[in-house]
Amino acid sequence: MSENLLDFDVEQLNAWFASVGEKPFRARQMLRWMYKEGEPDFTAMTDLPVSLREKLLQLAHVAAPQVMRDEISADGTRKWLLDVGTGNAVETVFIPEAERGTLCISSQAGCVLNCSFCSTGKQGFNRNLRVAEIIGQLWWANRQISKNAEGKWPVTNVVMMGMGEPLLNFDNTVSALRLMLDDHVYGLSRRRVTLSTSGIVPAMDRLRDECPVALAVSLHASNDSLRDVLVPINQKYPLRELLAACQRYLERAPRDFVTFEYVMLDGVNDSLQQAQELVGLVRDVPCKFNLIPFNPFPQTHYRRSGTDAIARFRDVLMQAGIITTIRKTRGDDIAAACGQLAGQVRDKTKRTRQPMEAQA
Ligand code: SAH
Ligand code: SF4
Repeated sequence: MSENLLDFDVEQLNAWFASVGEKPFRARQMLRWMYKEGEPDFTAMTDLPVSLREKLLQLAHVAAPQVMRDEISADGTRKWLLDVGTGNAVETVFIPEAERGTLCISSQAGCVLNCSFCSTGKQGFNRNLRVAEIIGQLWWANRQISKNAEGKWPVTNVVMMGMGEPLLNFDNTVSALRLMLDDHVYGLSRRRVTLSTSGIVPAMDRLRDECPVALAVSLHASNDSLRDVLVPINQKYPLRELLAACQRYLERAPRDFVTFEYVMLDGVNDSLQQAQELVGLVRDVPCKFNLIPFNPFPQTHYRRSGTDAIARFRDVLMQAGIITTIRKTRGDDIAAACGQLAGQVRDKTKRTRQPMEAQA
């Protein structure tokens, strides 16, 4: 069987080279070719002996998912639809800004958690992405846009905020995160890599122990009764447990903070009383807030909060001393904004038909 070398983290790549009788420095050469040069073709790896190149051609390959669609928004945001096989496709979004380039990466085809305002959740779930399919999104985006004049790759920041719940695909996500941080791979600092979770409490503790990247938590409500509806996983891991997990996440890095994401839904979670309730709720967690104006998608009954309501909500948090930003909506003309990623998911959970059934 031919191995896809993008499926290995650094340790596994070393082990694989050892298993085929090669020295550790060959694994490091391969990392440089694959990630620093973005080269998938063994025959172009000119400092490897010809015999090794031939052996590699027999035993391995370097393959990111195939691109099915490539769209560019009027604001420069770019979205790729990537084929991950068996009728499934996921989306990756590149957001260029003056000082940085952020890539929003998917971790699963679909999502089991079914948050009521999320287009990915509405499609149901098919499967976890492999490591090659997660790190392959970064590998592909860098190669597509290519290095700048100083020889640097365009992606400087990664957010695991695309399709899926990354902590429910824990092992593959952590392997991909470690590749992003490794100096022999992309060498991103852990503050430039953010994982967003809807609050899988035990997995948050594991992440802290195994790969403590910057943490964003999808809060979206100021009390359990509303969060139970918006983010149903709250019924399993309620706010008290979630906030305690946030505190534990920060224990070893006192200067860090959690970013709470809060989608602004008109008439649902955007009142000033709810803002005040939120201030009380997060009192003991060093945090910032990022308010996300709701991005609509077909079949949703939610509406985006008005600009004034969002600004007033922010002011309450700011007056309580919590740094709060309002997320700029990017790429909405190509449905690349938060929560709009749909890809194509062959639903194993049959949730795609639920809205129709609910009406029937
Ligand atoms: N599953 C993870 C990460 C992916 S979603 C999570 O839920 O955190 C990234 C962010 O977009 C989350 O905060 C999510 O709640 C938010 N989001 C989902 N649907 C949205 C929508 N329609 N409009 C705005 N934000 C949305
Ligand atoms: Fe899944 Fe996140 Fe969407 Fe919820 S918001 S359904 S956890 S992708």
